[in-house]
Amino acid sequence: MSMKGPFISEIAKDTYAVNEYGLAAMYVVVGTERALLIDTGCGLTDLKAMMAGLTDKPYDVVLTHGHLDHVGGLGWFEKVYINEGDWEMARSLDFEELRNYCDQLGAMGGYEAYDYNRDMVKEFTAFPEFINIEDGFVFDLGGRKLTVTTIAGHTKGGLVLIDDQSRIMFSGDCANTNTLILGTSINTALKGFLKVRALRDQYDRNFNGHIGYAGAPNCFSQPESVPEDLIHLCKLVLRGEDTPTMQMFLGSERAGMNYNHARMVYDREWKLDPGEEMLDLDMI
Ligand SMILES: [Zn+2]
Repeated sequence: MSMKGPFISEIAKDTYAVNEYGLAAMYVVVGTERALLIDTGCGLTDLKAMMAGLTDKPYDVVLTHGHLDHVGGLGWFEKVYINEGDWEMARSLDFEELRNYCDQLGAMGGYEAYDYNRDMVKEFTAFPEFINIEDGFVFDLGGRKLTVTTIAGHTKGGLVLIDDQSRIMFSGDCANTNTLILGTSINTALKGFLKVRALRDQYDRNFNGHIGYAGAPNCFSQPESVPEDLIHLCKLVLRGEDTPTMQMFLGSERAGMNYNHARMVYDREWKLDPGEEMLDLDMI
């Protein structure tokens, strides 16, 4: 039996996780004055109606990064916050690609678990205004604040937000159990994971950009060791000590390697950018 959605769970007081048919996760955080929508999913959900059902407060919209499965609902809004490293990617959203992504995850199990189809993707033509946010930017919702840290790696302009009330880190796809390094060199990605590790005493739970991926209904925090596991994998790659298996991903062959709770998918040839100095691995 398949389920109608999207599926909303309260993961902390006034804090909601939205599972959009196993395609992507969004989060809604409500303060005493304002609310915040984190990511916009794949465009299958009436986000204005969803927000109206969760809060009567005015709200802002922030994107953890520019991938199509997180920006698909942009058309509902006039203004969104996103790091400029991902502006171009977000603006190149291709609706046919988005529909194909719905089918890909559907074939992996999503169509059995969830009642959705590719034609539910709502197309739009006018993009919202993009507002750049950098390290240290704060969304003050009244009674709770969410602070931004930019994390390059999965994409150039990825970011995480830490909520001081729930002590949840909303991490997009920056530090997942299955992290795809698509936007930067491994060395730059390592810098990003080190930034995540430096935040460790500020959060208790890490909710990422995918819930119930491809039909596995669940809603849980990422294992605590994931940032550390990814750091370990990056060090192996940079030292030339990685032993990956090769897999096809988005039409090209990529390396994939597991360590503890994390898997990293990456390009073995893209360790450093031209002129980029390698981190001192013995000091990490
Ligand atoms: Zn992504």
